[in-house]
Amino acid sequence: MEQKYEIIQIDAETWRIEDGTVRCYLLVGADAALLIDTGMTLRNAREIAEGLTDKPVKLLITHGDPDHIAGNGSFPTFYMQPDEEPNYRAFGGAGDFIPIRGGDTLDLGGRELEIVELPGHTPGSIAVLDRSRRALISGDPIQNGRIFMFGPARDLRQYLTSLRALQRRIGEFDAIWPAHGDFPVSPDLIGKLAIGAERILAGQVTWEPHDMRGTPLRAYNVGCATFLMQE
Ligand SMILES: [Zn+2]
Repeated sequence: MEQKYEIIQIDAETWRIEDGTVRCYLLVGADAALLIDTGMTLRNAREIAEGLTDKPVKLLITHGDPDHIAGNGSFPTFYMQPDEEPNYRAFGGAGDFIPIRGGDTLDLGGRELEIVELPGHTPGSIAVLDRSRRALISGDPIQNGRIFMFGPARDLRQYLTSLRALQRRIGEFDAIWPAHGDFPVSPDLIGKLAIGAERILAGQVTWEPHDMRGTPLRAYNVGCATFLMQE
């Protein structure tokens, strides 16, 4: 089957892989490389990553939703925040993982990455702070497309708490590299999304009905993004 993905180089040691509406990243250091997510259709994600670098490629997933894990099966193991496991398994995610938590670091060799927990979109959603690039690879919680907040294990209040905590660290990065929507986005988006979430929780945002393959949802357009929620 023909695949429609696009590989775009960000700098000499960094790529983004656009898989339709979802985006993965490959970060390469002196000793190792890290692939962040395997997309919605990229069953050959490992092969794609290994075609871009001769360093050993490890895998980390920002969370376990089905549009981020298609190619996990070709990796012997991967990094995941352990609170995410029920969500990952619910979507058919297989394999053994290495637990990783907020504050943990991964050193690719001269390229240190810090894990930042952002629970709420899913219980174990994480972002990766790439200090060498002053970029935060945010997964789904911070992006200007559609943010899925329906189904089990989604928590808008917890999401808001995560964003407020992240706002206190805004001096540590200059850009956000999200998994959906525009690339890159400004760190200002964190505050805008937090205000949007607060307004939804306060009942101040009118919603439009939205049909998600037969599931009736509410679409709350807060200007900087649209939150999809259930009644
Ligand atoms: Zn997603």
